[in-house]
Amino acid sequence: MNADHPARLSRAAAAARERGLDALLVPPGPDLVYLLGYGPMPLERLTMLVLRPGAEPVLIVPELERPLAAATPAGELVVLIGWRDTDDPYAEVGRILPAAARLAVGDHLWASHLLKLQAVLPAASFEPASSTTGSIRAVKDADELDALARAGRAADDVFRDICSLPFAGRREDEVASDLARLLVEHGHHRADFTIVGSGPNSASPHHEAGTREIRTGDAVVLDFGGEVDGYFSDTTRTVVVGDGPDGFKAVYDAVRDAQQAAFEAVGPGVPAEHVDRAARSVIEAAGYGERFVHRTGHGIGLEVHEAPDIVEGNDTLLAPGMTFSLEPGIYLEGRFGVRIEDIVAVTAEGAERLNDSPRDLQVVT
Ligand code: ZN
Ligand code: ZN
Ligand code: ZN
Repeated sequence: MNADHPARLSRAAAAARERGLDALLVPPGPDLVYLLGYGPMPLERLTMLVLRPGAEPVLIVPELERPLAAATPAGELVVLIGWRDTDDPYAEVGRILPAAARLAVGDHLWASHLLKLQAVLPAASFEPASSTTGSIRAVKDADELDALARAGRAADDVFRDICSLPFAGRREDEVASDLARLLVEHGHHRADFTIVGSGPNSASPHHEAGTREIRTGDAVVLDFGGEVDGYFSDTTRTVVVGDGPDGFKAVYDAVRDAQQAAFEAVGPGVPAEHVDRAARSVIEAAGYGERFVHRTGHGIGLEVHEAPDIVEGNDTLLAPGMTFSLEPGIYLEGRFGVRIEDIVAVTAEGAERLNDSPRDLQVVT
């Protein structure tokens, strides 16, 4: 990936200036990877990008990790300030900021670091950096879209393969480990999550695969994803083992139609909440509005969940290059649940699916 880090840094600095911020303080995590191409482990030793509008960006880094940082794009993009274990890195950050600074701190900054920063800058104010970086990261460039599309296609291959394996008589966690193995076999660098909810467990949206033995007649929710070149896949299909449970077909059709309605609502200039409404109105019309217990979708990129949320109350206008999930669901406690999830990208004309596994009901054995 040849990310244009200088352009990203200047977009972030401009957005910070627009919000009246004196600096963005970015710890290790997805924002740092996005801005500098540097992804160290978050540790108790402070690593922090200090990005001030109109000033050279500075990366405060433990002296022992300075060679690591210097070998990444960060080495050319920022002034590296190394600190040793006998130095105070928080004072170093404080030294280059005004006493009453307005600061935005990365959402992944550990509380232990933030508390020490607050101690050296008692007159400063702090807000989350995601309100500044989230909207920048939400719009993907061509390389990012390519990585997300490859991840989506690989996830489609995983679904095709898992459907040819036996379900009845196996435990949820056995199917989950097959999903994890297949994610890597099909080109993910690692599996990130594998939800397998069978029978009544399918009615719990974030069910952790457990020891329940899958039986004929079960609905099974499969929600899985992994990472390709730093970007994530995330897809859900609901399958049935033989004949599904009573009442299953009507619920399944409502979810499938809701997902399609959401997809058809996506386009540039459309408020995010309109996409949620499109899905929700189909499920409400089918009589299950109360059982659709979560938002319609979430942005995806360097994180599985990022901006924009596809939810009532989010009037963010969709723009070409935004990528997010569409994942309506209906959950009938004690009986079964259905969710269908694809990642889509907003295009100049409308939308494109980055996942395209069959949405018609798949029967497994
Ligand atoms: Zn989820
Ligand atoms: Zn998912
Ligand atoms: Zn999702």
